[in-house]
Amino acid sequence: MSDSAMKVIVVGAGLGGCATAMAMHAQGFQVEIFEKVREFLRLGDSLGLGENALRLLKRWGLHEDLIKIGNKSKMLQIRHWETGEIIAQQPLMDMAGYVGHRGDYHAAFLKRVHELGIPIHMGCNVVSYDDTIPSLTLATGEVHKADVIVAVDGIKSLARELVLGFEDKPKSSGYACFRAFFKGNLLDPDPIYQEFLEKECVNIWIGHDVHLIQNTLRDGEEFNWILNRKDPSKLDPNESWFHQGDMNEVRKIMKTCDPRIAAAVNQTKECLDWKICYRDPIPSWVSKNNTIALIGDACHPHLPTSAQGASQATESGAVLAVCLKLAGKGQVPLATRVYEKLRFDRVRSSQLNGEDLRDRWHNALRTVETGGIIDPESIKLRNRWLYSFDAEADTVARWREVSSVVRKELEDRNVTPLFEAGAQPVLIG
Ligand SMILES: Cc1cc2nc3c(=O)[nH]c(=O)nc-3n(C[C@H](O)[C@H](O)[C@H](O)COP(=O)(O)OP(=O)(O)OC[C@H]3O[C@@H](n4cnc5c(N)ncnc54)[C@H](O)[C@@H]3O)c2cc1C
Repeated sequence: MSDSAMKVIVVGAGLGGCATAMAMHAQGFQVEIFEKVREFLRLGDSLGLGENALRLLKRWGLHEDLIKIGNKSKMLQIRHWETGEIIAQQPLMDMAGYVGHRGDYHAAFLKRVHELGIPIHMGCNVVSYDDTIPSLTLATGEVHKADVIVAVDGIKSLARELVLGFEDKPKSSGYACFRAFFKGNLLDPDPIYQEFLEKECVNIWIGHDVHLIQNTLRDGEEFNWILNRKDPSKLDPNESWFHQGDMNEVRKIMKTCDPRIAAAVNQTKECLDWKICYRDPIPSWVSKNNTIALIGDACHPHLPTSAQGASQATESGAVLAVCLKLAGKGQVPLATRVYEKLRFDRVRSSQLNGEDLRDRWHNALRTVETGGIIDPESIKLRNRWLYSFDAEADTVARWREVSSVVRKELEDRNVTPLFEAGAQPVLIG
């Protein structure tokens, strides 16, 4: 790596931050990561990685380890909430690509970052940014400078407020998830739910304003369920990933559900309660002086039903890295502003896909009650269109056109926002 290589600082070593660092390294940049926590734990549960992300990760030398983690079942089943009858089946690859434990994927991403020799400075809490330099300041008072700073600091992003110029409060999506995972052999042996334990599987029960996803992890060793329901609480949404759930509440909801899966879920000792917070799209992902860019949940959080949060963050990292390469050192503003323009519409459609799926699932049974039959196609996941996309190739293909628009905007000092307030986004796919 030459001394003149572009220097990139990534803030946050979650899946998005690690992917961004790999993407920057692949373009020959000098990259380092600052991460707030001192040590990572195996947090979360099921997470999907789509082919759109795997294609990029493979180029950056990370593939076999990820494939090993993913659930191996060929099909997923969508079932009637009360009877458990299968209403639709589709290949698992239509859903999320590979469904595995978030912590296991994270460990694989971190391992690859280490193999590439990218430094991760753990226990480094970034407390402020100066986008005129650009630089960041740690809680210790240490200041670090780079050519560009990429903030991949999650849903509670500090950098987002710098970009927006105001505090961006989360909004409740109106839904919450109870969720738990544990070793399957902790369940009492009972033939009633054996089929959901004995082999790798992904099953979804859909009901009125509720759905339950059950799948296995780690080659069938672990049992995971996620119960997504309307959240009646009028309290300010709590964005904690660690809030303890009430199993009595879970059992109450499960009373009407297929007794086979209810028997397994009801045995769970403890669960988490995630208020599903969401954020409206923001008009810019880049700071005023164009030197600090946001990626991942910091600027484009996804609902769980999108199954694309980590995959879209990976794409964003790839696109920004290619833009920085094509623009060249000294042209960071051009690169960051092209990046956000290239990404916005696709990411927005991916986010909306999750909202659309949740609504289709939560309303499907009403068709039966009014005497109709559910068309299996109407409840299937529609993520496949996202998978064939090559984010790096697309950036190269569209660079000339979009960069000429952005050059002019930068000359005129008039960068157009990512969307017009009040405009309705169009769902594609
Ligand atoms: C604990 C946890 C559990 C999750 N579980 C699931 C799950 O089960 N299923 C699922 O689909 N998705 C889950 N997600 C979300 C999913 O991981 C993300 O949507 C996706 O990976 C993209 O995340 P990201 O890298 O943008 O942000 P994150 O994964 O949130 O990573 C952000 C990183 O930035 C660090 N950071 C934040 N602020 C600072 C700062 N000021 N200075 C330095 N570092 C900072 C954080 O410590 C964190 O490591 C979870 C996220 C978290 C944080």
